[in-house]
Amino acid sequence: MDYSQFFSAALNRLHDERRYRVFADLERIAGRFPHAVWHSPRGERNVVIWCSNDYLGMGQHPKVVGAMVESATRSGTGAGGTRNIAGNNHSLIQLEQELADLHGKDSALVFTSGYVSNQTGISTLAKLLPNCLILSDALNHNSMIEGIRQSGCERIVFRHNDLGHLEELLRAADPDRPKLIVCESLYSMDGDVAPLAAICDLAERYGALTYVDEVHAVGMYGPRGAGIAERDAVMDRIDVIEGTLAKAFGCLGGYIAARADIIDAVRSYAPGFIFTTALPPSICSAATAAIRHLKTSQWERERHQDRAARVKAILQAAGLPVMASDTHIVPVFVGEPERCKRASDLLLEDHGIYIQPINYPTVPKGAERLRVTPSPYHDDVLIDRLAEAMVQVWEKLGLPLGAKALAAE
Ligand SMILES: *Cc1c(COP(=O)(O)O)cnc(C)c1O
Repeated sequence: MDYSQFFSAALNRLHDERRYRVFADLERIAGRFPHAVWHSPRGERNVVIWCSNDYLGMGQHPKVVGAMVESATRSGTGAGGTRNIAGNNHSLIQLEQELADLHGKDSALVFTSGYVSNQTGISTLAKLLPNCLILSDALNHNSMIEGIRQSGCERIVFRHNDLGHLEELLRAADPDRPKLIVCESLYSMDGDVAPLAAICDLAERYGALTYVDEVHAVGMYGPRGAGIAERDAVMDRIDVIEGTLAKAFGCLGGYIAARADIIDAVRSYAPGFIFTTALPPSICSAATAAIRHLKTSQWERERHQDRAARVKAILQAAGLPVMASDTHIVPVFVGEPERCKRASDLLLEDHGIYIQPINYPTVPKGAERLRVTPSPYHDDVLIDRLAEAMVQVWEKLGLPLGAKALAAE
């Protein structure tokens, strides 16, 4: 049997649909973010990164890097096994206490990624609720969809952020049946925010549990960086808050925070927690340092919002089709995979600007875009250069600018 034909056919399908993915070979430089070195086919080049989810540049913060190095020097590199086999590293306990405190919950449980925390967290929770009905927002992240699927529970998708639809579904369900509402707080492709208070109202009225992914909000929103739920003062009304240590906290790992009984049950039953090696102590210490810093420092959050507002204003003034966004995400509409990829290539090759194209299935077909993520470290000069470069690329590719561009979106 010629097995390779199956793989090449699968890859050819992606090429045909113009969504075969290529990743640039980049080297970040600590202390100089968002500047990086691109190991291009023609040698090394300096580039500016405009699409990182290290939203606040914490991945290079001296306190965070220092904590990682100090911890590795003191405790070594790996965790030495799963927590079942090797016990808990003290630094992991400290991290979980820091997270529980951040979200005002009894406990927190750390996983090796945000992806795993959703996948194994949601499936385990839902399985523990007899005959659970899951109500899932239409734009939920793949990790949540996989968790829901793995639970084997019945799930109904409600239209994105549509409270009327959610209420209709809740009302139609058996009042005695356990229900779990699963959504994100900040959707990272459009930059819009869920009406968390109203979702909590519905959950309370119809007796549902709530599970909220705050991956794109932790560190960045709320007076202590606990996310949109903190900003909107509804943290105590959400049953399970899920977050990542890999985006605004600049490290790696994911977690859930909740009441002690929920955390203990997931700890005791979740295969994606039980059967995998714990995070290394150095990562735990670095993440703890980032969380602690952002609990008190407002500078990163304020400057981040200021930069995002400026990028939106400058790109819009240049006639680029900036899509509506309520947050720090700045999506620029292209609407077609081929030119989305070409725009990204030209920005990198001609202008030293790195923005990954966002194509299907990350966004729907016809909604392809460049997703710009400003950080506190993108200064006015970099923003002006970005606008000039994008306009040149738009002109070169015959993409609409000005009033026409907004009509196209
Ligand atoms: C990135 C992301 C995750 C996964 O987090 P990782 O820590 O990167 O695995 C989960 N949910 C959403 C909405 C995400 O965008």
